Amino acid sequence: MAETWLKCSACKNPIPYNATHWVCSVSTCNRSRTRLVFCTVSCWDSHVAMLRHRDAWAVEAKAPSKEAWERELAENPPENAAPAPAPAAAAPRKVVGASPSAPITVPSSGGPALQPAESEILIVVSKMKKYIKERSGMNCSDAVAEMLSEHVRVLCDDSIRAAARDERKTVLDRDVPRATPRK
Ligand SMILES: [Zn+2]
Ligand SMILES: [Zn+2]
Repeated sequence: MAETWLKCSACKNPIPYNATHWVCSVSTCNRSRTRLVFCTVSCWDSHVAMLRHRDAWAVEAKAPSKEAWERELAENPPENAAPAPAPAAAAPRKVVGASPSAPITVPSSGGPALQPAESEILIVVSKMKKYIKERSGMNCSDAVAEMLSEHVRVLCDDSIRAAARDERKTVLDRDVPRATPRK
């Protein structure tokens, strides 16, 4: 089991040593006394919503090893052991479109500020590659899965809007845009 380095400043989940995590691009959020760290981009998002930063972004960071951290603590002992200011901790997650009458907002895909959580692969890569191989004998590069995932996101967003227009809370197969028939 990995040992905990720090806790996420938003949700308090442990962030282990050497773990990838997120920090705020705003320098005051990164002073050693403040040191805000986030386990996910959405935790960072809730912090930004709280502090109303302008022009802030999440920065991917790697937690130090246990040895490096102990060295750092030895060199810069924290002035007091009190927990970091609490405001970020209490921030409730904002749910977009939670109220039934609220117009649903779906983040536009492909914008310049594409967040890692939004660039996840949404398709079964091995099956997609097999399909291409079997139909054509062709190989396919890994980036194809990313592009196809973008298509899936666009289709999901369209489907969400269609369900929202019908004031439903469930996306049904009929909300999904029809695939253009093959020639
Ligand atoms: Zn978190
Ligand atoms: Zn910040």
